[in-house]
Amino acid sequence: MTDMRNTGVLVAGSANLDFVVRAGQIPTPGETVLGRDFSTHPGGKGANQAVAAARAGAAPTRMLLALGDDAQALALERSLREAGVALHVRRSPELTTGVAFICLSDAGENAITVAPGANEALQPDDLPALEGVSHLLLQLETPLATVAAHAAVARAQGVRVVLNAAPARALPEPLLATLDVLVVNEGELAAIAGTDGGLLAALDRVPVSTVVVTLGAAGCVARADGRLWLQPAFAVPVLDTTAAGDTFCGVLTAALARGAALPAALREAAAASALAVTVLGAQSSIPCADAVQTLLRTPDDAAALAALAARCGHDPRLLSPTSSAVPA
Ligand code: ADP
Repeated sequence: MTDMRNTGVLVAGSANLDFVVRAGQIPTPGETVLGRDFSTHPGGKGANQAVAAARAGAAPTRMLLALGDDAQALALERSLREAGVALHVRRSPELTTGVAFICLSDAGENAITVAPGANEALQPDDLPALEGVSHLLLQLETPLATVAAHAAVARAQGVRVVLNAAPARALPEPLLATLDVLVVNEGELAAIAGTDGGLLAALDRVPVSTVVVTLGAAGCVARADGRLWLQPAFAVPVLDTTAAGDTFCGVLTAALARGAALPAALREAAAASALAVTVLGAQSSIPCADAVQTLLRTPDDAAALAALAARCGHDPRLLSPTSSAVPA
């Protein structure tokens, strides 16, 4: 069994280099538009979450990822290492590193084409030894069979398994049975548990002991041990919501690995992801622990908490991290 004093986080998942062009409008099929500034940004849900966990501090963070042998791989490795993430790389020279081509319009719309490349080659036996790891954090941008195998191996060794079930898809029961924590947005929850009876009914249908549903600017709700924890979002000026969900997952997992109780971990994840939406970009927008600690000193907004409680039908199980009982 893994030593329970371990505090490390291992993220196993995707890394993509994003190629972003801003343009007046997104081209329609067959059309060419002249764009303006072009930039490249390290991304991919796995890599973003690893950066978020590392910047949260206190939990040593490692990442298992699959890369090609090209310039894009170098850029992704540099970004992760600079954030303090130790790497386990499956190198696939015959494949290209994962890339995303993103056109951003002046109206704030985007069109994205992803070529997953080497991410598709991540294998069950690529999982490194789990010494020092208390939590394994997974997403769904690598093959489902690999995700399920990694979850099963970690679970068998007493490592806590956290899955961010994004992008949305239905999940097989055996995978759900290996999870300790599931993090989803509303669309992802619907893909797993349907929409009948509303949000809390869907939440109650998921056979995982701790389930967290993120609700964008409204915050999040979590069900654990028969209780429902509500965490309103921190009010911030919104610039770019890219990587908000990834920041939330990485920081939540790092906080749990450090030994924080779920309500405190939810609040820390909400503060970090709020800061992420105030800055443009993916990994570049993920905050460091000091900024998060400063925002955590801001009390939760009572009106936002009441609105979240109303959205949950004032279920009698509702609690909040800062005030335990939630106003009716
Ligand atoms: P995803 O991008 O995966 O759909 P969400 O949009 O639900 O994830 O955002 C994840 C978390 O990020 C939310 O639970 C919230 O804490 C934070 N967040 C998202 N949007 C905002 C916002 N506009 N203001 C403050 N926090 C936000």
